[in-house]
Amino acid sequence: MPEMPEVQAHAERLTADFAGQRLKRFVPLTFTALKTAVPSPDKAYGLPLDEVGRRGKYLLVRFEPVTFVVHLMQGGRLLVDEKQSAKPRGGQARFVFDWPGPALLLTEQGTERRAGVWCVDRDTDLTSPPLDRLGPEAATIEAAELAARFKAKSMRLHGFLRDQHCVAGIGRRLANEVCHRAKLSPFAMTGKLGLDGAKAVVSAIREAIAEGLEYERGRDDMSSSKDRPGRVHHRTGEPCPVCGDTVRAVEYAGYTVNYCPTCQTGGKILADNVTSKFLK
Ligand SMILES: [Zn+2]
Repeated sequence: MPEMPEVQAHAERLTADFAGQRLKRFVPLTFTALKTAVPSPDKAYGLPLDEVGRRGKYLLVRFEPVTFVVHLMQGGRLLVDEKQSAKPRGGQARFVFDWPGPALLLTEQGTERRAGVWCVDRDTDLTSPPLDRLGPEAATIEAAELAARFKAKSMRLHGFLRDQHCVAGIGRRLANEVCHRAKLSPFAMTGKLGLDGAKAVVSAIREAIAEGLEYERGRDDMSSSKDRPGRVHHRTGEPCPVCGDTVRAVEYAGYTVNYCPTCQTGGKILADNVTSKFLK
């Protein structure tokens, strides 16, 4: 799933390419693509695109009266659409502009169909669903606030980082990378981390996001997950680049927790009662 660096760099690219173009129409291509009934997308018709912004893992396609909040979920992409074919593969919705240039096409591959668009009033876009319940931005949270949030909700660090209500913008990959950089177990309970733990996690978040942003900003389009930089994510069985120990995995149905025992758990191998599967 695209996380903060991928979404942020993509928003910047789209702003550079599309800002100022006037929206001709917004076309849902499936019945489930548009998640809201009011306000109507036609409030933005004839008006120039201000910017494509970002909040958490959402793209914000902003016009003066309304914002189109786009969530890519797992397999969604917001693509520059030169062809504007009648039945684009995986097509969910299309922004058609009043110029001879390309449209913007929301696609989602696979059968899940969870990507979507919310049309909300611009002046309350950050405080309306679906953005109203997001935690603070991961890239800018300060250690004191994170420490307070750790204390208020004690759970495994990896799960906390992935929970968009706790902190917004981090997914499975960055959660692995942040835990490794912070030298903390992905299973560490946040309630026990304190201010020092929060400081370590804030530094780790900023480093991992900076690395991801630098990589994404050097590209013409959003990377696929296998290309993204990382020290432990998707590196099961490879040597840790910091200490040389073998990167381990705890497998879950939807994702993999990767970690280095020497760097993060004092050498302890992590297990999960039901679902773990060890590196052989
Ligand atoms: Zn290591």
